[in-house]
Amino acid sequence: MTTPDWSDVDRFIVETVLENDETLNSALQDNATAGLPAIDVSPAQGKFLHLLARSVRAREVLEIGTLGGYSTIWLARAVGPKGSVCTLEYKPEHATVARANLDRAGIGDRVTIEVGAALDTLPKVAERGDIFDLVFIDADKENNSNYVQWALRLTRPGSVIVVDNVVRAGGVADANATESRVVASRELLQMLGNEPRLDSTVLQTVGSKGWDGFVFALVQE
Ligand code: SAM
Repeated sequence: MTTPDWSDVDRFIVETVLENDETLNSALQDNATAGLPAIDVSPAQGKFLHLLARSVRAREVLEIGTLGGYSTIWLARAVGPKGSVCTLEYKPEHATVARANLDRAGIGDRVTIEVGAALDTLPKVAERGDIFDLVFIDADKENNSNYVQWALRLTRPGSVIVVDNVVRAGGVADANATESRVVASRELLQMLGNEPRLDSTVLQTVGSKGWDGFVFALVQE
């Protein structure tokens, strides 16, 4: 037998710990059919976001980067019928697929999709005066530091901010990196280390999505 790899372990985790979920499977299937890239969070990561949102009793969640709504479904289930998720997506065609997936999942009524570049739609979100318990940042990585600054404006002490894909197969530790997303990750982590309004850590992850990791930051009193 060959030695199991990260993807084998992720598959085993899905088979043993997570329930088979036809709604989520269908969302991934429809994303693929519509030609969306398979850059959603993994099932284990989606379940983690769901449990995290429930752990902090999140009622208002902001997501930056919808794609086909896979992570949005996990988050929207966590906030319950009285909660809401606002998710920001640049591409109208992604938002259309997401809307269909969310409605089929039965949680469409608690999700608002704002279409456009997030740096353009975030001011509109701010105008509404919503304060979010949890912010999940998973869009264009070059803007991660900007998104964290926006998240600070849109949260309260005790809110949680998660930023996905910051380890970039170890690239984040390369001081000579030139790739824009890696450079942005390095700048983000340096910013977090100097940001007194946040208490932050980074957890590395491996699995079906390769070697990466996410920021977990707690908004301070
Ligand atoms: N969170 C999704 C999930 O796990 O199912 C995956 C999101 S995918 C990694 C990133 C998404 O961010 C893509 O759909 C992309 O079109 C969107 N995006 C890229 N640049 C953006 C921007 N400036 N504003 C808003 N969304 C953007």
